[in-house]
Amino acid sequence: MTIRENVRRLLAELPPGVLLVAAAKGRSPQEIQEALEAGVQIIGENYVQEAERAFSVIGRRAQWHMIGHLQRNKAKRAVEIFDMIETLDSVKLAQEIEKHCARLGKRMPVLIEINSGREPQKSGIFPEDAATLIREVAQFPHLKVSGLMTMGPRFGDPEDARPYFQETKKLFERIKALHIPNVEMKYLSMGMSNTYQIALEEGANIVRIGTKIFGETHPHPQPLSPARERGAE
Ligand SMILES: *Cc1c(COP(=O)(O)O)cnc(C)c1O
Repeated sequence: MTIRENVRRLLAELPPGVLLVAAAKGRSPQEIQEALEAGVQIIGENYVQEAERAFSVIGRRAQWHMIGHLQRNKAKRAVEIFDMIETLDSVKLAQEIEKHCARLGKRMPVLIEINSGREPQKSGIFPEDAATLIREVAQFPHLKVSGLMTMGPRFGDPEDARPYFQETKKLFERIKALHIPNVEMKYLSMGMSNTYQIALEEGANIVRIGTKIFGETHPHPQPLSPARERGAE
C-alpha cells in the first residue's frame, strides 16, 4: 500500500467531523508531502526540530499539531510553527507559551494531555488534576483550552485501551459541564494506528495516525527519550 492509498482509505473511513492528524515522527518531508497530496490537512510532530525541518519545506500548506512532550525551552519556536499544542500538562509550560504568543499576538489552541494510564514516567496529568490545571490555564489570554488528548498505555491488544479512552471521555464531559470561561471542550484527541477505531467508538474526534499512513518505521536511531531531544536539538 502506498501512502496515497492509505490516506484515501482512512479519510473514507473516518466519520464526518473527525480530524485526521498524520503523525509524522521520523518521516521525510517527501513522505509528508505525499500524505498532503492525498488529502491530509494536519501534520502531527513530536519534536520541534523535526517540525522545523518539515515546516521549512511545507509551510502553511498544512496545519501543524504538536503531539509530543514540549520542553519549555522549545516553546518559542513551537509557538511560531504550531497551530495547536495537544500536549499541555503544566502551568509552567502554559506560562512560557503565553509569553511567546503574546509577543506574536497569536492565540494558541491547546489540548490538555491526560495520563489516563497513570503511568509514572509518562507525560500528561492525572485525570483528577485536570480541572484545576484547566482553571489556571484559562487565565492566560493567549491560550485557548480546546479539549483533551490522551495516549493511554500501550498494549498488545487494542481492546485493552478502551477503558482509558472511556475515562478520558467521561472527564471531557465533566469538564465541559463546568462551563469554565475561556475554555471550549471541543476536541478529544485519542487513538493511534492500532486503536483509532476503538477511540472513535468512545468519542474521539481527533485521531493521530502514523504507521497506518506511512508504514512501519525503518530501523532508526530511537528510542525517543528526553536525552535524545536534548542532545539532538
Ligand atoms: C507516534 C504517535 C502516534 C501515532 O502512532 P502510530 O501507532 O504510528 O499510529 C500518535 N500519537 C503520538 C503522540 C505519537 O507519538
